[in-house]
Amino acid sequence: MKSLSISSVVSCHICPVRFMLEQNIKNNCESENYTLAKQISYHLGEELMPGEIWDEIMLINPKISSESNELFNSWIRKCILSSWPRASQNDIRVSSEKLGIYGTIDRFFDSKPHIGLTRLSPAPENGVYKADRVRSACYSLCAKESLKIDADEVILEYIPSGISRICTVSPRDRRDALSAIRIAKKIISGKTPVKNKNLPCENCYLKDKCSKGPVKLSELL
Ligand code: SF4
Repeated sequence: MKSLSISSVVSCHICPVRFMLEQNIKNNCESENYTLAKQISYHLGEELMPGEIWDEIMLINPKISSESNELFNSWIRKCILSSWPRASQNDIRVSSEKLGIYGTIDRFFDSKPHIGLTRLSPAPENGVYKADRVRSACYSLCAKESLKIDADEVILEYIPSGISRICTVSPRDRRDALSAIRIAKKIISGKTPVKNKNLPCENCYLKDKCSKGPVKLSELL
């Protein structure tokens, strides 16, 4: 079985039906929000020069919209107000053969916490999102296996809010990650996930593509 990306594991944690639907969506297009956040993240830890970073964004995506320029200005203004550690490396691919997952660490630091993950969503009021805890657990497990480092603390960098939060990975987070990996593998090998009342359908971008009907996830567990 081919390895799973960590983002797909997180998707499966959020909703197994969403994971299944996304298997059939081929999306090679980078979102404008991703381009903005990623390019800002490359400059964190140094003096942030909005004009310079915007010029780079224009080189990467010359067709970027004027709405994205407004968004960029609001994000960078917030990022300038915080202090950020400087990364020693960007975009380090890590994987776990044991778990069959892989991902790319956005920013890597020589001292603890070693892992910095760029997020495109605004920060929650407190702490980090549950999905980001599962994401952090996956990266922590991959970093231990690939880089032989202890990475139980992960920095989530919420670029739209200009703030970062530390996630200390707990046994529960690792358990949730393992459960999502197990379910994802079952779906890939042919099981059909089903809906239940607790899924976040209201805010789901796939709700129009999703058939209706009550379902249980228990058969996948
Ligand atoms: S609409 Fe609900 S069941 Fe369907 S993919 Fe989204 S969250 Fe999952």
